[in-house]
Amino acid sequence: MVWFRRDLRVHDLPALAAARASAATVAPLFVFDDALLHGRWPSPNRVAFLIGSLRALDAALRALGSRLHLRRGRPADVVPAFVAECGATAVFVSRDYTPYGRRRDAEVARALGTIPLHQHPGVLIQEPEAVLKPDGSPYTVFTPFRRRWEALPRRRILPAPLDLPTPEGIAVGTIPNDIPASPSAESILASGEEAARQRLDRFVSSGLAGYAGGRNDLGTPRTSRLSQDLRWGLLSPLEVATRCAASESFVAELVWREFYAHILYHYPLVRTTAFQARFREIRWRNDPDDIAAWKAGKTGYPVVDAAMRELQATGFVHNRARMIVASFLTKQLLVDWRIGEAHFMEHLVDGDLASNNGGWQWTAGVGTDAAPYFRVFNSVLQGERFDPDGLYVRRWIPALRHVPTRFVHQPWQMPPTLQAEVGCRIGLDYPAPIVDLDQSRQRALAAYRAAEA
Ligand SMILES: Cc1cc2nc3c(=O)[nH]c(=O)nc-3n(C[C@H](O)[C@H](O)[C@H](O)COP(=O)(O)OP(=O)(O)OC[C@H]3O[C@@H](n4cnc5c(N)ncnc54)[C@H](O)[C@@H]3O)c2cc1C
Repeated sequence: MVWFRRDLRVHDLPALAAARASAATVAPLFVFDDALLHGRWPSPNRVAFLIGSLRALDAALRALGSRLHLRRGRPADVVPAFVAECGATAVFVSRDYTPYGRRRDAEVARALGTIPLHQHPGVLIQEPEAVLKPDGSPYTVFTPFRRRWEALPRRRILPAPLDLPTPEGIAVGTIPNDIPASPSAESILASGEEAARQRLDRFVSSGLAGYAGGRNDLGTPRTSRLSQDLRWGLLSPLEVATRCAASESFVAELVWREFYAHILYHYPLVRTTAFQARFREIRWRNDPDDIAAWKAGKTGYPVVDAAMRELQATGFVHNRARMIVASFLTKQLLVDWRIGEAHFMEHLVDGDLASNNGGWQWTAGVGTDAAPYFRVFNSVLQGERFDPDGLYVRRWIPALRHVPTRFVHQPWQMPPTLQAEVGCRIGLDYPAPIVDLDQSRQRALAAYRAAEA
């Protein structure tokens, strides 16, 4: 049998190919683990995308003469029960590198007894054991990691199987009926492998060449929008890297994804703790009003507010905007990065423990190879640089629609008559800034220095 987890595809899936090659029949399974639905990071947006992708996977498997079987419960109970039900002689999976996934797979392997659990690559391009320094220790700095990563040989890309004979008469199972409704359902991109492959085709033919120049542009986004597809394994990262090899800058982003997955694998403590010991005792303010204003997109800083409203409405945020809002929360408001991390995980369709944790620790300046802690993104300058025409902020903040471009990233600078004329009265139609950028920056630097001392 093949147990699908975060690899919901039939193309270039070594676990599926190996199962097909080793047995006359193969039974595909997906388990609704309670940890997924109600665990540390429940997310209706992510579950909505998952369910659509499972339906698509079922359709793809039917086209091969098979079905996707669904079960609910603890994998250590459900997987051996399914093995008994279909008389399987081996279980094939794509290797999972997260602390939870490793624990779960060890438990399942024990529960399976003499039935082997074969773990294959497929979620990452390079294995954590392959990208090590000459002395055998893991890299904690990105550039040498990337150099080593790029020098390694890669496995061959595999086609989808031509057919997948499956034993008859196994109960198919159902999608659980206690799935929470997704608040952003309308805006989530089409789910399923086929839709993801179409996105990849479109990006290769019309986005890749302009990626390096346009990847920071907030007004007219020019990134691939493949993150949810990589998160759920609708696309093989190896296939994406191979097809996008013409853009070094794009492949570097895929390497960041691998870097953070390897960091989490080698240093599972980052899951809850700053990688840099000197920043584990920062005295965060965690002011509830500040946190609420940040989440609601009501800080008075347009680019921050636009990004937070985009997240709320769509379950996605542009990378540049993620860095801006994470810097604002941790530095300008002096709020613990873990509060931001959890909020992102609640909403992001691409929410991924390793990349999200890595992104938050990097921006807060407390992680591996992080931005130096004294680097604080200035939200006004970032807005003016990456959204010079105000397209992004006007899209998400109706009160800014008629604000002249020269004021759009600092609307409080408009004289009151102009505020009234353009329908953006500060304090009425749009909030006044909740902090002064310079003073709050000094406050953050003092808190970081004190933690270091
Ligand atoms: C605070 C913060 C939190 C983040 N949380 C997540 C998350 O939960 N899940 C997630 O997939 N990405 C996360 N990222 C990384 C990045 O913002 C998204 O991957 C990217 O915005 C997705 O859009 P895209 O697919 O159009 O990206 P593209 O620019 O087209 O990049 C291509 C792919 O490379 C990978 N990638 C790009 N940038 C990064 C990065 N900095 N770190 C790791 N992988 C990267 C993604 O898989 C992405 O789909 C986070 C970044 C920050 C700063």
